[in-house]
Amino acid sequence: MVDFDRVHDMVTDAFVAHDEDEEPNIDAKKFYEMLNAANQPLYSGCREGLSKLSLAARMMNIKTDHNLPESCMNEWADLFKEYLPEDNVSADSYYEIQKLVYSLGLPSEMIDVCIDNCMIYWGNDEKLEECRFCKKLRFKPQGRGRNRVPYQRMWYLPITDRLKRLYQSEQTAGKMRWHAEHTQTDGEMTHPSDARAWKHFNKVYPEFASNIRNVYLGLCTDGFSPFGMSGRQYSLWPVFLTPYNLPPEMCMQRELLFLTILIPGPKHPKRSLDVFLQPLIKELKDLWSTGERTYDCSTKTNFTMRAMLLWTISDFPAYGMLSGWTTHGRLACPYCNGATDAFQLKNGRKTSWFDCHRRFLPIGHPYRRNKTLFRHKRVVRDTPPPYLTGEETEKQLDYYGVLETVPRGGNWHVPPNMPDSYGVHHNWHKKSIFWELPYWKDLLLRHNLDVMHIEKNFFENIMNTILNVPGKTKDNIKSRLDLPDICSRSELHINSNGQVPVPIFRLSSEKKSVLFNWVASEVKFPDGYVSNLSRCVEKGQKFSGMKSHDCHVFMQRLLPFAFAELLPTNVHEALAGIGAFFRDLSTRTLKVEVVEQLQENIPILLCNLEKIFPPGFFDVMEHLAVHLPYEALLRGPVHYGWMYQYERAMKYLKGKAKNLAKVEGSIIAGSLTEETSHFTSYYFASKVRTRKRAPRRYDDGGVAPTYAVAGVPDIFSQIGRLGGKSKEVWWSSEEDAHSAHTYILLNCEDPLIRYFERYNKFEPFILASQADQVSYLPYPRMRESGINWLSVIKVTPRGRIISGEEPPLQEEQINEVEEPEQQIDDILLIDPHNHEYEDLTDDGTDEAVEDEFNENDDVSSDDENVSD
Ligand SMILES: [Zn+2]
Ligand SMILES: [Zn+2]
Repeated sequence: MVDFDRVHDMVTDAFVAHDEDEEPNIDAKKFYEMLNAANQPLYSGCREGLSKLSLAARMMNIKTDHNLPESCMNEWADLFKEYLPEDNVSADSYYEIQKLVYSLGLPSEMIDVCIDNCMIYWGNDEKLEECRFCKKLRFKPQGRGRNRVPYQRMWYLPITDRLKRLYQSEQTAGKMRWHAEHTQTDGEMTHPSDARAWKHFNKVYPEFASNIRNVYLGLCTDGFSPFGMSGRQYSLWPVFLTPYNLPPEMCMQRELLFLTILIPGPKHPKRSLDVFLQPLIKELKDLWSTGERTYDCSTKTNFTMRAMLLWTISDFPAYGMLSGWTTHGRLACPYCNGATDAFQLKNGRKTSWFDCHRRFLPIGHPYRRNKTLFRHKRVVRDTPPPYLTGEETEKQLDYYGVLETVPRGGNWHVPPNMPDSYGVHHNWHKKSIFWELPYWKDLLLRHNLDVMHIEKNFFENIMNTILNVPGKTKDNIKSRLDLPDICSRSELHINSNGQVPVPIFRLSSEKKSVLFNWVASEVKFPDGYVSNLSRCVEKGQKFSGMKSHDCHVFMQRLLPFAFAELLPTNVHEALAGIGAFFRDLSTRTLKVEVVEQLQENIPILLCNLEKIFPPGFFDVMEHLAVHLPYEALLRGPVHYGWMYQYERAMKYLKGKAKNLAKVEGSIIAGSLTEETSHFTSYYFASKVRTRKRAPRRYDDGGVAPTYAVAGVPDIFSQIGRLGGKSKEVWWSSEEDAHSAHTYILLNCEDPLIRYFERYNKFEPFILASQADQVSYLPYPRMRESGINWLSVIKVTPRGRIISGEEPPLQEEQINEVEEPEQQIDDILLIDPHNHEYEDLTDDGTDEAVEDEFNENDDVSSDDENVSD
């Protein structure tokens, strides 16, 4: 790596006038000067890179990590001052540390909020003393003058300065042009800039696109409770922005997910989200129309930086809050809009999306004419609902008279105020504040469906139903009672004694044990790929504590073959098809033709499940899968639009909430410190240990070897420590030496192939991170005879960005068209060996009737050690 680390190099560079170079603008100059001053050596002759600033930043980190009191920090500062050589410049009090770190930090604002979330005291309302809507007072009675305390406040961390900082750092400045400078392989998408939505935007706004330093942003929000699951009701909503200009290996790193707004608890901001988004929307409008003068240290020029918002990312309930389309009830799907076939189940009292997918099949497809496999006696001639353009959507909003939140107050969108024919022809409850952005109507993809949550829900539905988990299975009493009205599956009807036939998709207890044993003892992946799945098997009886990423791994890697012997072939194939679908959809590089194939296949895959599972199985999450390939074509690879990174960022914020009496304040303080120390760490010499350079897991704190000669490659300078007592070792055989040699090569990360190419006698090798790792797994078996085949599963090594090819698991054409008469027998015959009857328990714990804004702020699916 080029040594860009030293700030003085950079600052000197910045001031050395080449003919065409420009001086940084005043603002950037001030920053560099401050940085330079703070980065003077801590004392004369100290190790390179140790500075007043690096020490202060480390100490601030330690303070926030351990929630140390100020008095303690003062004493530490004192101690350092005293024990370091006399000419040291270390800060001598906590106050000075804080001043130093914050002087290089980025701005944050506090804005008072009505206690009922009606409005914020901002802009024209800045001076008001009481809420314009509910008339409640702004300030608490105690306190005077400047010390008056508001009942509630939000935090706003302006984005412009953060984006400017990206251009002031050598680490990021040049990379911000990556989106326009990389070469795209024909027909492949590795980054959103390779996909349709981005390209379409550039076509509509060629002037914006012509300055490739302009910034493309994504926005994500979700709620979490800082008090965990057991604590009191408290819902905090951070809003993140992230720049998409950067290359895949940098894009969406946690440090680059900028916390922009923190909406305070305890109230859920369900109807009032737009109230809190106002400062951000204003800033985005300014960034779009006028932009901001910015110094680009990679080219040493000043330019006017503009920015646009590409799309939002959220789970499905928050999708409703962001888009204004209520995501519950019969019209939950924003794409199907008013034209859905979803219906209410009489006994289940829930919306079913059963048989909503035949309309997505080609016109002549035999499933469309089939009157027995789906809703009985129904033939489907409809075409799929059209995907509306932004302009069409806005027209629809205006046609139904859908109104904005801000002028009416945060609590206005309640049932009596809903627009005409709400819930009948459309589900628009508000015109979202994003429509204020002049380019919003020209975006092809405004809101992302979250593949992470959809996959997780889909997977849980499958497992709960085939394992018949009480209270969670979709094959319950209500579902059987609903069956006669909807389907021709008389063999599943409850008989006159109140007994219920066992369906073919349910695992017998014997097969359950085989499955659990297999997951508990035989499913193993290489280290770092996934947290051990076997910990999800509780007492060999059930799955518990499966996090989103566990579901993701099971769905994509195991489902395609797990039930080959445990369930009838048709059930196994239907499930395997869905697993392969999610796998192919989630590859790091997407081929356009593969996604187009997925788009053709998904309605058939859903129909295949509909032939087997009951109507209650199909809630909106299963349905949404039908739209995922379309979104992938617009957006590019799914990981640029899913929640994994954000859930981790939120978990991280949660960890910052040290002071539970002042949750929001401590989160903001923690993230500001983190942000400063992160940015300044870019300028520190590589030997200084900052958080970013914390040792890796295989580096257990030993010493890096030094050599008397120059040019020894880094590979031989890796830090390591002997595993036990050291003694001299000679390889007992050639083979041992060879494997030790290979081990070293496989466990180094430096691309040294070139270096070794010169030595022909060495065997050709590649590094672990460049390899396709595979793991060999047996699959759960019932038959003991025959050869024990192993399944080969390809896994992605930790930290690797796949850019090569991954052959799709899915066949080009999936088996679809069997003769309809046969299918009835094939699909619906009760397993002859399992023709017992068993009583179903109905514990009545089916979810409550859907309410309009079902709150979903549980982040129990926090993911640790996620690596994919
Ligand atoms: Zn109010
Ligand atoms: Zn739909």
